[in-house]
Amino acid sequence: MAKGILIVVSAPAGCGKDTILEQALKENDNLFYSVSATSRAMRPGEIDGVSYHFRTREQFKEMIKNGELLEYTEYVGNYYGTPKKAVTDMLEAGKDVILKIEIEGAANVRRMFPDCAMVFILPPSFEELERRLHKRGTETDDVIKQRLETARKELKFAENYDYLVTNAALEDAVKDFLAVVRAEKCRRERRPGVVEELLAE
Ligand code: 5GP
Repeated sequence: MAKGILIVVSAPAGCGKDTILEQALKENDNLFYSVSATSRAMRPGEIDGVSYHFRTREQFKEMIKNGELLEYTEYVGNYYGTPKKAVTDMLEAGKDVILKIEIEGAANVRRMFPDCAMVFILPPSFEELERRLHKRGTETDDVIKQRLETARKELKFAENYDYLVTNAALEDAVKDFLAVVRAEKCRRERRPGVVEELLAE
């Protein structure tokens, strides 16, 4: 059976990546979402093992030491990392695996898996991003300002990605994301021997 493809998704906070991916996962049952481990505190509504594998810093360090992580990073004071086994097992089983990770981790994954597909999600504008961050109502004005500045910095790394999906309207962004996955599955390099098999008929 053909191996699955590895899809790396990054986006600044507030671009709607969680919602896009949730919807995409409902619509394509060959997609597998890799649940990361983190040492950050659980937010209201999050579920251990679903949103993240929540671990203490010590537990996280143990995972690093045991080589259990494909990549990890320290982001705004907390550890985040991708558990290796689930990803490699799922790819082996032919599932297309989504990693929702920040830019540094994404660059590391690209080095390990040069044929991964990298998708960057963009806001339609900074004005709209600011409006969405305010609408969430979870952060103070200062934090929102910081997040917007971080978003500007992160956007500079979009040039390292293969695809840009702009989240102006959720449904279109989901369609674009699923189209990327579909197009990637058709890449000639991912279908070795197909032409030869046909010719051998
Ligand atoms: P949050 O704390 O808002 O859930 O995530 C903060 C950032 O960490 C987001 O950009 C998210 O994509 C990223 N992140 C989540 N899991 C991982 C991971 O396993 N590895 C890396 N490198 N980044 C991650």
